[in-house]
Amino acid sequence: MFKQEEFNKIKQKALENHIPIIMDDTLEKIKEIIDKENPKRILEIGTAVGYSAICFAICSKEAIIDTIELDENRANEAIENIKTLELNDRINVMLGDAVNILPNLKSGYDIIFIDAAKSKYSIFLDEGIKLVKKGGLILADNVLYKGYVMSDYNKHKQRTAVRHLREYIKEVTENPMFETEILEIGDGLAISKIN
Ligand code: SAH
Ligand code: MG
Repeated sequence: MFKQEEFNKIKQKALENHIPIIMDDTLEKIKEIIDKENPKRILEIGTAVGYSAICFAICSKEAIIDTIELDENRANEAIENIKTLELNDRINVMLGDAVNILPNLKSGYDIIFIDAAKSKYSIFLDEGIKLVKKGGLILADNVLYKGYVMSDYNKHKQRTAVRHLREYIKEVTENPMFETEILEIGDGLAISKIN
């Protein structure tokens, strides 16, 4: 039996603690993708407290999800949340910097979801290409970054992230290896199919 009440609590607590969990419309789109692609293996970069990984696991029924989180407290909370919903046999939380962990993973993922440090998106992409199946998808959240990515003038605080997100968008839209769609839903979602 799915524990709806516990699930609601996990989402509510994440929102209260200002954890940047996936937005509802972005999640709906990814659920559609999961329905269509029927993935067996999903890799997520940026677990936070496990909310998105839990949503993917519920939606896909059988996919195994590997998810990476840098922050120890968040990773521990994610592990707790995943246990509460009895999804621990399908979601593996890995603690550490994805930059170091990605080169050690076994390839063959159907879907990779990038949702961590914006200034590392290009590194995640380069490593992700080696891990995703041919015909698979690399998704990246927050690529439009509240519109800053389209703006000529940005506050110093956002400038580095904006530069890296633009680099990411340039790579996935110009390199013929990818077929990319950028959606203006949530905070911007890039969907790249690997040819
Ligand atoms: N996917 C989650 C939200 C992730 S928020 C959800 O929708 O529910 C982004 C997370 O990425 C943060 O918890 C942050 O600690 C983590 N993060 C940032 N840089 C990282 C890195 N280099 N490696 C792994 N995790 C990272
Ligand atoms: Mg996000």
